Amino acid sequence: MGTGGTRCGAGRPGQRLKAEHTLKVDLRSWRKLGYLVNGHSFAWQWSRGGEVTGNIGVSVRADSIRLGYAANGQDASQTIRTTTTPCRYGGARTWFQCPCCGGRSVVLFLRVGRFACRQCQKVSYSSQSGSAHDRALTRYHQLHALIEAGKPKWQRWTTFERLEDRFERVNEQVNRSLMTFIQRLQAGRC
Ligand SMILES: [Zn+2]
Repeated sequence: MGTGGTRCGAGRPGQRLKAEHTLKVDLRSWRKLGYLVNGHSFAWQWSRGGEVTGNIGVSVRADSIRLGYAANGQDASQTIRTTTTPCRYGGARTWFQCPCCGGRSVVLFLRVGRFACRQCQKVSYSSQSGSAHDRALTRYHQLHALIEAGKPKWQRWTTFERLEDRFERVNEQVNRSLMTFIQRLQAGRC
């Protein structure tokens, strides 16, 4: 890992975070959508369970990509340098140059108000079985809290009812994965 420089070093996250709990930008999906064209600007948003959790404005230049967003109510836009490498079968692959370590990466994660590569942001991918259960459990707790809080005045009843349906499904999912876990425990495979 690089030294990162003082600016990035100071804000380096201490705790590991799982990939599914972060917002990320992925050059592969933007390329598939045909967005990686010099001069192209577009809006990008993340959602979880139908609710928008964040959005940014993206401007593509020949050797950089500007990610325009707000963090804690302040403008925290970042211009990330990009590089290209030739593909084996023609064309070129675009990479972000991580603003902290300078390494090449196709994915950057948003954490502590800035985008950087997975290593610099201490983002980890959990194991396949664990992550499905973790994700379901996280959703379970989020939905449970929302339902406990009741329907906000501004929310439509249909939206709230959909929330309750989703909670039922997640509840089943959590119970199923818990059963699988217990069966595996009993079989001595854990
Ligand atoms: Zn980095």
